Amino acid sequence: MIEPIYWLNGRLVSAAEAVIPLNDHGLLYGDGVFEGIRFYNRRPFRLADHLERLELSARALMLALPHRTALEAAVTETIAAFAGADGYLRLVITRGAGSLGLDPGHCERPSLFVIADKVTLVSESRRRSGLDLITASTRRPGPTVLDPRIKSLNYLNNILAKLEARRAGADEALLLNERGQVAEGTAENLFIARRGRLCTPPVSDGALDGITRGIVLELCRQEGIEAVERSLTPYDVHTADECFLCGTGAELLPVRTVDGRPMGHCPGPLTERVRRAYQAIIELETTTRSEQ
Ligand code: PMP
Repeated sequence: MIEPIYWLNGRLVSAAEAVIPLNDHGLLYGDGVFEGIRFYNRRPFRLADHLERLELSARALMLALPHRTALEAAVTETIAAFAGADGYLRLVITRGAGSLGLDPGHCERPSLFVIADKVTLVSESRRRSGLDLITASTRRPGPTVLDPRIKSLNYLNNILAKLEARRAGADEALLLNERGQVAEGTAENLFIARRGRLCTPPVSDGALDGITRGIVLELCRQEGIEAVERSLTPYDVHTADECFLCGTGAELLPVRTVDGRPMGHCPGPLTERVRRAYQAIIELETTTRSEQ
């Protein structure tokens, strides 16, 4: 069994020592930011992109972050201590311990921690056969409420949507924004294919500016696949030729049905092309050969 590794405020700690105070505002109010980062072959994938997004989220919340090199060192040390070559990192900054009021001004200093572990979001058979999705009644707040680009510790909308999916016997939920347009999955961005073209909602419709989403768009440019960001309604998804979810944890997951409507193909040819290209870029960037 591969044990999780914990790094807290400057050093590796045992599971028993991996604790933060009960009055940390990260716990009391979800006041903090985080990243989920995969590593393959002991190398973090797209670390610079994740740290940049973390820094932007922290700036938006006026949360002081350690310098980039300190964050990189924490990641490197945690991966080095992990027994497996591949895994998942959770990098979290909380507002820190404070008094029982919202005001972050009363918090002492932010807490930084990293957890390395294995992650399996869906079974291998589901990954192959494709997921069943429902549209959740819980909405994703748009930028006028809480900018979805802030990757904060507050995930309650997404958790409520996940609960809806589980109760409906589905694998995953789609969240719409307040205008009824498709935003994203609970922890993944969404793409559909129609007539040979991929479409994904713009982040202004309530999607996280996903790093995997960005890579998919980049790969499409390289592969000559037409891909656009445009608003989607449930109708667009229900009648798509293909649909897939993407994210760091999820990687690329084909979708089989949405609200009981079967997709045209699952996994469809464009999904397969993008998935292969995604695997190839991971290999290219995380094999030791590319270090030379
Ligand atoms: N949307 C949400 C709400 C997420 O939590 C995630 C996972 N970080 C994603 C999309 C996918 O983003 P990324 O590709 O950067 O992991």
